[in-house]
Amino acid sequence: MSESLTKSNTGELGQAMHQLMAELYPICRSITGDGVRESLRRLQQQIPLTIHEVPTGTQVFDWTVPREWNVRDAYVKDANGVKVIDFQQCNLHLVNYSVPIQQKISLAELKQHLFSLPEQPTLVPYRTSYYQENWGFCVSDHLLQSLAEGEYEVYIDSTLADGHLSYGEYYLPGESEDEVLISCHSCHPALCNDNLSGLALSTFLAQHLQTEPRRYSYRFLFIPGTIGSITWLALHEAQTAKIIHGLVVACVGDPGQPHYKRSRQGNAEIDRAVIHVLQQAGEPYQVLDFSPYGYDERQYCSPGFNLPVGSLTRTPHGRFPQYHTSADNLAFVQPQYLADSLALYIAVCDLLENNYCYLNTNPKCEPQLGRRGLYSVFGGRKETKTDELAMLWVLNCSDGHYSLLDIAERSGLPFAQISQVAAILKQHGLLTGCSA
Ligand code: ZN
Repeated sequence: MSESLTKSNTGELGQAMHQLMAELYPICRSITGDGVRESLRRLQQQIPLTIHEVPTGTQVFDWTVPREWNVRDAYVKDANGVKVIDFQQCNLHLVNYSVPIQQKISLAELKQHLFSLPEQPTLVPYRTSYYQENWGFCVSDHLLQSLAEGEYEVYIDSTLADGHLSYGEYYLPGESEDEVLISCHSCHPALCNDNLSGLALSTFLAQHLQTEPRRYSYRFLFIPGTIGSITWLALHEAQTAKIIHGLVVACVGDPGQPHYKRSRQGNAEIDRAVIHVLQQAGEPYQVLDFSPYGYDERQYCSPGFNLPVGSLTRTPHGRFPQYHTSADNLAFVQPQYLADSLALYIAVCDLLENNYCYLNTNPKCEPQLGRRGLYSVFGGRKETKTDELAMLWVLNCSDGHYSLLDIAERSGLPFAQISQVAAILKQHGLLTGCSA
């Protein structure tokens, strides 16, 4: 584990991530609009990300960047002038991308524009209507059932007009131009695990990596789901050749166990790195095969790109009852789980950074380790025996074909230990770098 993430500060980091989410929570985000910009500007206080603006109408593969949606206010008043539904109370109440309206209508007509969850009658659902002009409100089923007959005033002060799609990008250069892509979606309003936890984790991961020596370059994308990744890929097609590892970050703050969804390639280095980290963490986890559903890995792993991009989450989308409801709130995501997830991401980056391939400089029989003092460098440590075993594995497998992760997998020893002994063997001239 990295120096800067120790047991003593994970608590603080989890709290800080949660605090950032609490600040972003009231902002009404969508796939476009000022809520996204405001959220990205808040993240700019943590990391120097760039906000890019792509004009409405831009053709991006089979899609078109949509009109920009902004909302100032929305409510429904009953016959007595009482606001029975109020966007200012909870931004989930307004169907995302609702067109403007000011009208008096009957209850029956209003009900055609109300969405509730009869199975979860106290929760407000999250609904969008990006590509079909419409308007609507989301309410608890309890509220829906309580509405009396009569006339209602519907008011939505929104605009749907030519503008831009905004996304955030932070490029952190390393020694190599080969890139690790970290992508999260920024398009949901007051939803925590599905959306804000990814923004918070990506931001704190970027902050951490800023302070570390970096072999790879890192590209962080804060983009609206689906249309954002399609837009980025369409505008940066040539650059995608540099992406050699990638992860889509979402749902990283709930109490569920970690889940890793493999890239479409299935056994890319990123897939093996994440699975090794999860194995070594010693807690229950699950590995899922790729499927063309979920978050932006769908676009990164589309056949024309087929990038090695997986997704490391806790409970995957749609599998927790709070998903896309008002219950996916600041109480559902907790600092300890955010910190645990961040530690996993940092461990994956550490592994990728250190997964070198070496050549044994003395491949004919074992080198005499005792003569070089290598049996004693580990003296006094409990791990001495396995360190010796790790050294023998590294020496035996370093024929130019095995990376350190290959050796860790084959030996069943932790990558961190394999990497540590390899560094010592290198210092003693018993290993040399190779480019495989
Ligand atoms: Zn979602």
